[in-house]
Amino acid sequence: MLKQYIREAQSIVVFTGAGISTESGINDYRSQGGIWERFQPVTIQEFMASQNHRRLYWKRKLALYEESKNAGPNAGHRAIVTLERQGKLKGVITQNIDGLHRVAGTLPDKLLEIHGNSLEIICLLCGEIWPWQHAYERLKQGEEAPLCLKCGGYLKPNTVSFGQSLDPLVLEMAFGWAQECDLFLVLGSTLVVEPAASIPRAAKQNGARLVIITRSDTPLDDIADLKITQAIGEVLPGAVSE
Ligand code: ZN
Repeated sequence: MLKQYIREAQSIVVFTGAGISTESGINDYRSQGGIWERFQPVTIQEFMASQNHRRLYWKRKLALYEESKNAGPNAGHRAIVTLERQGKLKGVITQNIDGLHRVAGTLPDKLLEIHGNSLEIICLLCGEIWPWQHAYERLKQGEEAPLCLKCGGYLKPNTVSFGQSLDPLVLEMAFGWAQECDLFLVLGSTLVVEPAASIPRAAKQNGARLVIITRSDTPLDDIADLKITQAIGEVLPGAVSE
């Protein structure tokens, strides 16, 4: 059924969540005993207000990086790139900040990272973008909360932090894609965080088929044309091959 839906589709939007990265060995932040439990997340308001919170923030970020730095894209990420080469992909909307879609080869103009990505560091004052490696080397040399070398502003990974709202332009594009596609494919998202749940709903309301490949139940299972609970890397590569 999945294979048929993909064959019949001309414009596919793929929406990915933590589940696709789990298959690369990256722990879901909600998993038990994870970094999530060892370090309290720091809100953007706390980050701006105190050096102590900035130190805690970077400590957690460094631990997350050390845990996942050897993880690479998997068969699921690569199958999405295959869809792109077949000319069927409208775009990828991802909740993940690990940058694995970029690493797999999804083109930047086909990718909306609605929570940002950890591969880039941004200066909160002047907006200068640095590669992650720049911050990583400074942290390894003992800096606890690096400052921008150009203006002295706070550096932070270019991700949407707790307490920070999503970029309205990025969201607008995501909803636009959802309304223009004829197949909306959810991969590894539980669709419980808004606006995540609303994007596939918009696609379905506009006449697209909705397929959800996620292990757990989601609030949209009832309106999905197809729900699959197997691993993404087990079902998607076979379904996209000609
Ligand atoms: Zn700066």
